[in-house]
Amino acid sequence: MATEHKLRIVIIGAGFGGLYAARKLAHLPVQITLIDRKNHHTFQPLLYQVATAGLSPGEIAAPIRWIVRGQRNIEVLLGEVRDFDLENRRVKLADVELPYNYLIVAAGASHAYFGHDEWEPLAPGLKTIEDALEIRRRVLLAFELAERQAAAGGPALPLNFVIVGGGPTGVELAGTLAEISRQVLANEFQSIDPKNTRIILLEGGPRVLPSYAEVLSRSAEEQLRQLGVEVHTSAMVTKVEPADVWMGDTRLPAAVILWAAGVAASPLGKKLGASVDRAGRVLVNPDLSVPEHPEIFVIGDLAALKDEHGKMLPGVAPVAIQEGAAAARNIERDLHGKPRENFHYFDKGSLATIGRAAGVAQFGTLHISGFIAWLSWLFIHIFFLIGFRNRIIVLVQWAWSYFTYERGARLITGDQRLPSWEELQHEAQTSTVQSRQRVS
Ligand SMILES: Cc1cc2nc3c(=O)[nH]c(=O)nc-3n(C[C@H](O)[C@H](O)[C@H](O)COP(=O)(O)OP(=O)(O)OC[C@H]3O[C@@H](n4cnc5c(N)ncnc54)[C@H](O)[C@@H]3O)c2cc1C
Repeated sequence: MATEHKLRIVIIGAGFGGLYAARKLAHLPVQITLIDRKNHHTFQPLLYQVATAGLSPGEIAAPIRWIVRGQRNIEVLLGEVRDFDLENRRVKLADVELPYNYLIVAAGASHAYFGHDEWEPLAPGLKTIEDALEIRRRVLLAFELAERQAAAGGPALPLNFVIVGGGPTGVELAGTLAEISRQVLANEFQSIDPKNTRIILLEGGPRVLPSYAEVLSRSAEEQLRQLGVEVHTSAMVTKVEPADVWMGDTRLPAAVILWAAGVAASPLGKKLGASVDRAGRVLVNPDLSVPEHPEIFVIGDLAALKDEHGKMLPGVAPVAIQEGAAAARNIERDLHGKPRENFHYFDKGSLATIGRAAGVAQFGTLHISGFIAWLSWLFIHIFFLIGFRNRIIVLVQWAWSYFTYERGARLITGDQRLPSWEELQHEAQTSTVQSRQRVS
């Protein structure tokens, strides 16, 4: 229950930023309200494992209420924040308004479709557990539909998986999908050969993993090719249709299209009335507060801040975590009458995994590729996973699938239709009829 006389700090979002801010503030004599539209915190770096059937949702997510249990001054509320009354310092949900003395907005970001929101149902992105389950459904269903079609003697359909965007998520998805088709499912079908699946990664820029050193981009591309992924750089997608991806006049038929390009910050950023960048991120002060509103902090993927070299801080978990802690420290300094500190990001390095035992890592000037990079990725990410039980389960699952090539969460749930399938069938039938007519 909220205690009336205590300072009230409202935190929006229990992702990396919001959760670490709440934990840092918990020892102060304040009342904290942590609001999220989901009842769980999602460990986004492992979402691709849920999307590719390696892990189940409960292994990478934990109830927010459970995470902060025992912290009597943190109240958790399930709800979506819609707007603010900045003058009267209130946060607006659909049916309630909550007052605050301090506000920390950590609502994160989502995918952007370059102004083509109509592409979203055709090419899901990966941000939430629901997204991961939808991707898993489509990927596994495509193999099943292809098998059924072939078993019934129908024309073979192109089993192409097209991933748009060659950043870390696109690279992870492409590498793991290649592993699934080449290893995991290789001997389980009678009428199709999953090894013939084409995994196609399209990157609009000149290289994959553009935020990494060039040598690591080249290494990642090479590792992807070895796994059987077709990598196309400078491939700008201009249109997405149910069973096709277009790059200018070039059409690529696709059974499954996945979106891993573009980031759009939460729309809450714009509602704070401050300046935002092109992705909708709030241009915060060096102490992470919003200009003209020292009582409001914006952190994580929703904040735009440059480091001391003028480089924009990346949208990664360590930035959000450190900003959460820094915003909490500045509130504490206010309470003690001390001047605020500017935020400094301590960059511990970047890691991206590519497949079962491949990856790249960049620690300052140290560049690592291959198995060691993958192993570092695995241990660092498991260390940050919330919940001891989850860490143990994930480690065991990983060891098991490493040695056996098995993926334990291969469940198709929900709808058994694929947006592309009818179009692909129609096209295959039309071309069969045309070729028969040509023969006769
Ligand atoms: C697939 C994927 C893989 C990634 N891999 C890595 C990686 O390997 N390493 C790495 O460092 N980073 C990785 N990232 C990036 C990292 O996850 C983000 O930088 C980080 O989560 C940002 O933290 P945040 O607190 O700003 O936002 P988030 O963690 O996204 O949390 C935002 C929270 O706000 C809630 N929310 C949003 N809007 C509202 C609203 N209106 N009302 C109430 N609640 C709301 C959401 O439900 C969510 O819980 C990955 C991201 C994705 C999507």
